[in-house]
Amino acid sequence: MSRQPQLVIANAIVVNSHDRQEAHVVVQDGRIARLVDAALPVPAADNTIDATGKLVIPGGVDGHCHVAQVTGRFRTLDDYRTTSTAALWGGTTTIIDFGIPRDAQETPLAAALHKKELATQSRCDVALHGSVVSWDETVPWQLGQLAAEGIRSVKMYTTNRGSTMADGDTILKVMREMVRLDGLTYIHAEHDPIIADCTGQHAQDGRIGIEHLHRTRPELAEEISVKETLAMAEYTGAPVYFVHQSTPGAVDLVSEARDRGLQAYSETCPHYVTLDDSVYGSRFPEWFACCPPMRSAETVAALKERLVSGAIHTMSSDHSCYDLSQKRERTDDVRAMPHGLPGVETRMPVTFTAMTSAGATVEQFVEAFAAAPARINAVPGKGRIAEGFDADLVVFDPAEERTVDGSALHMGTDFSPFDGKALTGWPAVVVSNGRVVLDADGFHDPGAVGRFINRDGFREHQSAAPEASQLTAAL
Ligand SMILES: [Zn+2]
Repeated sequence: MSRQPQLVIANAIVVNSHDRQEAHVVVQDGRIARLVDAALPVPAADNTIDATGKLVIPGGVDGHCHVAQVTGRFRTLDDYRTTSTAALWGGTTTIIDFGIPRDAQETPLAAALHKKELATQSRCDVALHGSVVSWDETVPWQLGQLAAEGIRSVKMYTTNRGSTMADGDTILKVMREMVRLDGLTYIHAEHDPIIADCTGQHAQDGRIGIEHLHRTRPELAEEISVKETLAMAEYTGAPVYFVHQSTPGAVDLVSEARDRGLQAYSETCPHYVTLDDSVYGSRFPEWFACCPPMRSAETVAALKERLVSGAIHTMSSDHSCYDLSQKRERTDDVRAMPHGLPGVETRMPVTFTAMTSAGATVEQFVEAFAAAPARINAVPGKGRIAEGFDADLVVFDPAEERTVDGSALHMGTDFSPFDGKALTGWPAVVVSNGRVVLDADGFHDPGAVGRFINRDGFREHQSAAPEASQLTAAL
């Protein structure tokens, strides 16, 4: 006689990125064993959670999450235990971090292996992006080693001269290697000469404090860098993914490139579709120190339209956990401040509220929050509730509203840029690899059980798990 299932989520409205059904979700050995039509009896299980009237979605996949990041003299205040715990509190069951060289001596391979070691403390599943700052003859070999370690993407910055910036030669050569290795190129796109000049001009005029941040990094600096990078992607044939796009013009460049046949992707972050540059005139402008900065209200509205239209593919947190003492140390000079916002825990409610209040369906939310990040990053077993997929599940009541209290969250910091916002889309139950880690009793620490997920090749994964639109076209 076979064992009974470990867990059943009964009477669920199961919402995937392109469909929904009423079903009992049966979990065995950490995976989804099957979906049973809700009209049939609830299968017996060791543990049954009744989800009547609630939605059940795939656990979130946060494709852009910095853990224990060192940038210059700043180090984020979290570790894998903290960030993965906060992720699970927020309905995210897979995070993708970056192995970014901490200084000019650390190689891309060493940086990634260091992060992989830290990630053994994770409570949720983890994958990694590599990062290259400068080209040398060992880079192709290092990228091959990264691919063998399951790290199939490389992030490069077109700005941050003197720290993480990669020059055009490096970006082009790495793109070519990523084609060879069937990987994905991640780009932080801001045109460095414009940023450097504009920041320098503001410093000369004595307008370099945090209240001026948005004026020092103009929208056109982002757009011209996206344009230039797309040309390199077209030239090399490399699939390219733009992190944290903050302007409609930048997103439209990606859409136009896709129309020409490029494999180009657009990511944005919760703050860019919910907060505008008036925050720099608020009482606590340092809460909003990030690059790119918040944009005008008009830009935010146009960006949100593109999220709802599907032109933006993924919603990532760009989680970077500095606290207020770090943020407040040098508010007189944006060049000396740590940039980046804590957000791994609030990504679900901020995204859900922003999207559904603008007319998006829950299916579209699932696409941006879980399905597309899993598919584009070629993370096997994630982003979908279906037989054989990992049992990463979030149960929630879409009508339940809570107000963000930045001091009551679980990230390694003491504030949230979303403090005081009334949001819907809070997880009630979170299941990670079949374990109930969050429910009405609070968080149940599973210990350091998070797995390192070896990612598939980009093309390999896309052909095995095509976008739903392609599926429809093929029928
Ligand atoms: Zn980032």
